[in-house]
Amino acid sequence: MSATKWVYGFDEVAEAEQRYGGDWEGVRGLLGGKGANLGEMTRLGVPVPPGFTVTTEACLAYLGGDETFPPGCWEQVEQALHRVEKAAGKRFGDPQEPLLVSCRSGAKFSMPGMMDTVLNIGLNDEVAAGLARLTGDERFVYDSYRRLVQMFGSVVLGRPDEVFEEVLAKHRAEQGVATDSELAAPRLKAIVAEFRRLAGGFPTDPKEQLRLATEAVFKSWNGKRAVDYRNAAGIPHDLGTAVNIQTMVFGNMGDDCATGVAMSRNATSGEPKIEGDYLINAQGEDVVAGIRATKPLEQLAGDMPEMYAQFAAIASRLEKHYREMQDMEFTVERGKLWLLQTRNGKRTAQAAVRIAVDQAEEGLITRQEAVMRVKPDQVDFFLHPQFRPESRKGAVRLANGLNVSPGAAVGVAAFDADLAERWAKQEGKQVIMVRPETKPDDVHGMLAAEGILTSRGGRTSHAALVARQFGKPAVVGVAALEVDMAARTMAVAGRVIAEGDWISIDGTNGDVFLGRLETMVPDISDPWLMRLLTWADEVRKLRVRANADYPVDAERARRYGAEGIGLTRTEHMFFETERLPIVQKMIMTTSPEERAEALARLLPYQRADFEGLFRAMDGLPVIIRLIDPPLHEFLPSTGDLTKRLIDLKVEEARGGKVAGEITEVEALLARVASMHEANPMLGTRGVRLGITLPELTRMQVRAIFEAACAVTREGVVVHPEVMIPLVSHVNELKVQRELLEAEARQVMAEQGIEVKYLFGTMIEIPRAALTAGEIARYAEFFSFGTNDLTQTTFGISRDDAESGFLVRYLRDGILEDNPFATIDRNGVGRIMRLAVEGGRATRPDLEVGICGEHGGDPRSIAFCHELGLDYVSCSPFRVPIARLAAAQAALQ
Ligand code: ADP
Ligand code: MG
Ligand code: MG
Repeated sequence: MSATKWVYGFDEVAEAEQRYGGDWEGVRGLLGGKGANLGEMTRLGVPVPPGFTVTTEACLAYLGGDETFPPGCWEQVEQALHRVEKAAGKRFGDPQEPLLVSCRSGAKFSMPGMMDTVLNIGLNDEVAAGLARLTGDERFVYDSYRRLVQMFGSVVLGRPDEVFEEVLAKHRAEQGVATDSELAAPRLKAIVAEFRRLAGGFPTDPKEQLRLATEAVFKSWNGKRAVDYRNAAGIPHDLGTAVNIQTMVFGNMGDDCATGVAMSRNATSGEPKIEGDYLINAQGEDVVAGIRATKPLEQLAGDMPEMYAQFAAIASRLEKHYREMQDMEFTVERGKLWLLQTRNGKRTAQAAVRIAVDQAEEGLITRQEAVMRVKPDQVDFFLHPQFRPESRKGAVRLANGLNVSPGAAVGVAAFDADLAERWAKQEGKQVIMVRPETKPDDVHGMLAAEGILTSRGGRTSHAALVARQFGKPAVVGVAALEVDMAARTMAVAGRVIAEGDWISIDGTNGDVFLGRLETMVPDISDPWLMRLLTWADEVRKLRVRANADYPVDAERARRYGAEGIGLTRTEHMFFETERLPIVQKMIMTTSPEERAEALARLLPYQRADFEGLFRAMDGLPVIIRLIDPPLHEFLPSTGDLTKRLIDLKVEEARGGKVAGEITEVEALLARVASMHEANPMLGTRGVRLGITLPELTRMQVRAIFEAACAVTREGVVVHPEVMIPLVSHVNELKVQRELLEAEARQVMAEQGIEVKYLFGTMIEIPRAALTAGEIARYAEFFSFGTNDLTQTTFGISRDDAESGFLVRYLRDGILEDNPFATIDRNGVGRIMRLAVEGGRATRPDLEVGICGEHGGDPRSIAFCHELGLDYVSCSPFRVPIARLAAAQAALQ
């Protein structure tokens, strides 16, 4: 067995690929995303400074082995360094011809800024003096040197970065300049000395610098920032990071030098145009740190036309090679362009959709790939809140900044991450996190906040990247905003806003407002999304219906692409103010005549409701579920009634003439008490209610068919499907259906119109699923009510559990997923499978769908696809998401 290869040169990527049989994911796992792509760019002939990658395996061996390098590892680093020295014609630590390197973290999945990087390794006093002689540029050399000591001090030696920043600020003030790049050489030299004192223990031996930096990068895999980020982004903790050791190129050697970051397309809107930020005469993190005002990339075309043209060509080449939008780092050293990184770019949901669609239309990817590229949840952002135009009109606009992550957010200003998190999580406040700029250790606050506002930073700043990834509305680089961290206030447009004051930000256009604006959810009319969803519709097998109780919901659902209604809950209609007294009367009375009269008064209301739904769904099926909840829900509670009774008695004692009312309340109380059930969710509801109170369901069926006949006369095409809930035994369905279908036939005979209809049932009790074969004899369709089916299969009451022990179960990993959010495949899912098989064995053309909450959950939708259901039904707002999820399930 040959010795382990811990180190791969950038020119050895083919070897790594071979090891994984050409599987690029394997290469990324071994070399990290950054290392793999540096190798790939080298192979493509893109100019990359020479270097090599220490593998993630070495990292894991190091971390798992009491923080020592595995045998042979460091020797391989030295050999690889030697190869780089030869290629560059320079020597590491040699003052005559010094090679400097960077030591860069890089895990399989990009975690921007979460781990550490040290630049300019290899400098000490002698090497610096030599390099100054060689380049004739002392300012550049001591600028690089102070950066090394600063980064080494904070990354390796653990000194807080502020300590160094304070020194820089002091010197800037003394010299009267605004930026570090204006500091003169002697001053930089003094700063280096001061930094070395502050850092304490800065090693002068370049090899020692490199070794310690490599170890620090390995260790940063387990740093708090990195762990928090992985938890939030769902990245496993056992991957480790690679370390890339790479020849330094210098963007800080003068005004013919620059450094920048850029995307091959616009990451906010998706527009097919490269965009980015750069700085002349700067290095490394300067661009993303937001300390100096960056220039938009287009200006590079004026500043350095040749470099701009080369960069644009490489960007487009890399995008074609990876068939994905790229996020790149580049540096220009004295008129020579170098690429330092490329990766698939993070983007907003809007950009994700537009880029996928554009790339498919450009022929770069197929339509099916485009459909797979957008996550169903990203579609949600098109339905994201925006400010109401009226509310925006009257509001005080404080400033405008960069619109880096869309959506409207409203909250109280919090000036640090810990407070933002505490207010949001413990006090349930809506918070906007406000900072001069954000740093990787602010992520927990950013996640807890509704939105993010910073006074500095560009489109590719840390705040912008994180906000986009997690879908938080964000406005950054608001120059007019002055955040005073000491006073905990922010000043803007002549106003001072204290911590805790309400502000509103619009990440869609960059506006910042005073106070609390009202938000609304827009319509989905984005042309790219429409196209993508059309492509999704072409491949999906599942149909998508909506759960809608009112005509407005049905209309919205239809606009969003619903192909019918999977669930109308008729009881909602009973709660409306003018109807409730009639409903109560109907329940209270013991006289059949009075009940009939109350039902006759309810009939026109229900008929009108159904007419509206049928019109909105012209030509499409509409499932109407007959009354489901226990009747006590329509009556006042015993507690309220008792209180009312006491009040009345007191009034009577004072001489009030309320005897009549007292009798009424007493009767009501007696009736409510008589209806009491210990466990109403398992009590007289659903079909059981229909059987005990057949007049009620008969009235509902009459309303459905009268409405259907009426709109048919208008020319509307109706397909009513009558759904009987909570069936557990075939006989329940049999008696209820016979009764109701007779009523339906009678209505159609009276009206002289035949409509096509179906009778079917919910499957929401395990017994129904287990006896689906029998039940299908009387049901023309099944609809899985997975909320109740989950409750009854687990024996868990949803309402109680989700705020109780279930929280703990999920936290402790006793349950991996909340079964009320994602279908429990092994339990509930197994029962569903039995029901589908049993039902279809009896009735091959049985229509089967799902109308529980799970119908809008992408993972549950994938399961429904596997089960071969005919459709999923979900809230109108989830319909576009379901269309995409169903397509992805079909393509997988
Ligand atoms: P991150 O993952 O946080 O972006 P990087 O390893 O990419 O960390 O490095 C941080 C910054 O330093 C980037 O701007 C990068 O371009 C720059 N940098 C890294 N290595 C070099 C190098 N060899 N020469 C010049 N700049 C470098
Ligand atoms: Mg970094
Ligand atoms: Mg980087």
